[in-house]
Order: sequence, then C-alpha cells, then structure tokens
Amino acid sequence: MGLLHSPLARLGVPLLIFLVFAAGYHPLLASLSPYLNLLYAAPFYLLFTALLLSHLFKSARVGMTVVILLISYTVILTRLQSPLTDGTTYLEYVLLVVLLPINLLYIRITRDRKLTSLYGLLFFAAMALEIGWGALLVMQYGELATWLYQHPVFVRIPAFSPLPLLLIVMLLIALCMAAIRVLHKNSIDDHATFIALTCTSVTVIFFDMAYVSSFSFAIAGLLLIANQVAFSHQLAFLDGLTAIPSRRALQDELKHLGRRYTIAMLDVDHFKRFNDTYGHETGDDVLKLVASLLSQCEGGASAFRYGGEEFTLLFKGKTTDQCLPFLDALREDIAQYPLVLREENRPTNPSEGKQKRGQKKDSATVHVTVSIGFADASQASQPDEVLQLADQALYKAKQAGRNCIRGSE
Ligand code: GH3
Ligand code: MG
Ligand code: MG
Repeated sequence: MGLLHSPLARLGVPLLIFLVFAAGYHPLLASLSPYLNLLYAAPFYLLFTALLLSHLFKSARVGMTVVILLISYTVILTRLQSPLTDGTTYLEYVLLVVLLPINLLYIRITRDRKLTSLYGLLFFAAMALEIGWGALLVMQYGELATWLYQHPVFVRIPAFSPLPLLLIVMLLIALCMAAIRVLHKNSIDDHATFIALTCTSVTVIFFDMAYVSSFSFAIAGLLLIANQVAFSHQLAFLDGLTAIPSRRALQDELKHLGRRYTIAMLDVDHFKRFNDTYGHETGDDVLKLVASLLSQCEGGASAFRYGGEEFTLLFKGKTTDQCLPFLDALREDIAQYPLVLREENRPTNPSEGKQKRGQKKDSATVHVTVSIGFADASQASQPDEVLQLADQALYKAKQAGRNCIRGSE
C-alpha cells in the first residue's frame, strides 16, 4: 500500500504507461482500426467518469483539471483536425499549447471549493471568457498563424515535432514544476495536475501522429479515475494524521491471517498530561513520530493506528517469544527518542518548567514512553479475541507502572 501511494510511483506510472504505449503504438492502432469511432469517443466517457468521481469525492481541483481536459479535447477534435498549415489552425494549436499549462498550474494555487459553488461558477465563467477571447483573437488576427509558423524565434525540428522548441521547453518546465510538487506534497490533486500535463504534452508534442490525442486523453481519463479510486482507498485505509494504515486496514488484515501471528497493542503513557503541558499540536507531532518509529519496528511488523494514542503491531508468522525482543527494542527506542520542542511549545507555567529542567539539563527536549501488551494466535481461536487479550495485557502493563511490556497468560 505504501508503495502504491509513494510519490515515485505516482510519477513513474504515467511515464511508464506512455513508454509502453509508444513501444506498442502501431500494433495497438492496427488492432483498434475497426473501432476508431469508439476510440474518438473513449476520452469523453472516461473523462466524464473521472469528473463524476471528483464530484463524489469533493475534489474540486481534480474536477477543474478534468473540465480543462474535456475542453482541450473538444477543441482538438473540432478545430485541429486539418493540416497545421491550413488557415488559422497553427495559431489555434499554439494558443491551446500556451493556455493549457497556464490553466492547469493556475488551478493549483486556487482554493479547493466545490464546482457547484459560486467559486466553481466563476471558474466556468473564466473558461468561457478564455474560449471567447481565443475565438476573437483567431477571427481578428488569423494572419498570426503564418507569422508564428515562419518566425525564427519559433524554430522547430519538423522530424520530431510541429511544436516550436520554445514551447516544448515551456511544457517541460511546467511538467518539472508539477513533478516537484508531487515529490514534495504528494497530494492527490498534484498527481492529477501531473497526469494532465503529461498527457497533454505528449499530445501536442507528437501532434502529427494519428490518433495521438484520443489515446493520450483516454489514458489521462483512466489515470484520473485510478487517481480518484486511490484517493478513496487512502481515505478509508490510511490514517489522516500519521499516514500509517488505519484501524479499518487492521480489521481487513485480521480477516486474512494464517495460523501463527502475534498482536501487540501500544498506548502512549500519560498522553493527556503531555497534551495539557505542551499543547495538542505538539501532541500530534508526537503521535506522528511514534507512528514512524512503529513503522520501522523490525521483525516484519505492520503498524496501524488503532485510534487516539493507541497503536497496533501485527507480526505475521511469529509467536510471542519471537516478537518480544523487537517489541522491547521499540519500547526502548521510543523512550530514548529526544523530542525537541519548539520555543513556543515550552511550558509557560514556571513550576512545570522548573520540574522539566530538574529532570533534564536541556529543557528543550522531552521524552514520551509507551506501554505494550501482546498475545498470539495460540491463546485464542479468533483474531478479535487475540486482540482483546493483547488489550488486557496492555492494561496490566499500565498497572505495572507503564513504559513496560506485558504478555497475556
Ligand atoms: P495512560 O498512561 O493511562 O494511557 O494515560 P493517558 O493520559 O495517555 O490516557 P487517557 O486515555 O486518559 O488520555 C488519552 C489522551 O490522548 C487524551 C487525548 O487528548 C489524547 N489524544 C487522543 N487522540 C489524540 C490526537 O489525535 N492528537 C492529540 N494531540 N492527542 C490525542
Ligand atoms: Mg489510551
Ligand atoms: Mg495513553
């Protein structure tokens, strides 16, 4: 699951699909030749499905991205099917190439409001204005087409692409910007922008290839549908704060266990007091840190956030005896980890501050501890029961003074 949502996978999959597509382009086209009408229509079906999904998942930015793709594909089908040197075609082509990345990147900095809100209506109004402005420019200054085609600044390599090198560089810069955002933020709408830019760039750069726009926009539609499905999967199975699998994912895992496994329940000690002293935000940071230490736990453990400040570790194929060393190392790692507090999060109450300073020379670092209870498959017949036993063992660890591990008898 982690791999599926990793930024590198999100960048790599669209690029890989296009590489495979390029390699098998001619056989693919030959096999689809009886269904060419369907090929023309496929992007509409797929993009409308992606639009519907974006509406269901309330991702307005993805919706706007899809609308821009739908408009672009319609423009390509209705205006750009004649040779580029005909009439105003080259001007319309260049206009599309310039406006596409500007619009796609602009969506990234707008607010993510519903498409059906006033804000969404403004977006549609802006699109209508843009199309109107483009049409007016084409009607009034159609001769710009020849000028663009012949001007030395817009030099082309016809064997490679009908697009001026300058615009290819512009597209590549836009693509790099989108890719950097995916690597940095890895959000679902950054991914949608990257998909849209990749597919439209392939279309306009290799514009001379037959059916390239239908193929590319259909791929964009498919990838955007997959993007929305991945988003819903992420909502259901990944915890929003810590980004590790959620309790729902754990429940799913519990259904598919073999005969041998160990379940450990962890609970952060005196966490209410920690929140009261350092604030809820610092508390959140601690939960993220604990989650990341849990994910690094050795022994093939999978980590889940069970809820609040409670976590679960699942060791498949292992008995309690085999897991104990890993659990103890984890408990120790968490207890030893120095949490550096930001200036504004240090205790304001002087007596609290003094207490902390008494405990540690450097008052800017604190520590949290966890209590752990565990049980294995030999102790109960159902995974739910094993989990309950682990929870009871956790209670014993709390009773025993916390920062310790207890098993279930
Ligand atoms: P114990 O050692 O017995 O576990 O004591 P405790 O204070 O950790 O346990 P208690 O159940 O009394 O309090 C749990 C606290 O965890 C209360 C709540 O504010 C905090 N908590 C739960 N979820 C979150 C969260 O998502 N973020 C933050 N910052 N705190 C949370
Ligand atoms: Mg608790
Ligand atoms: Mg607790």
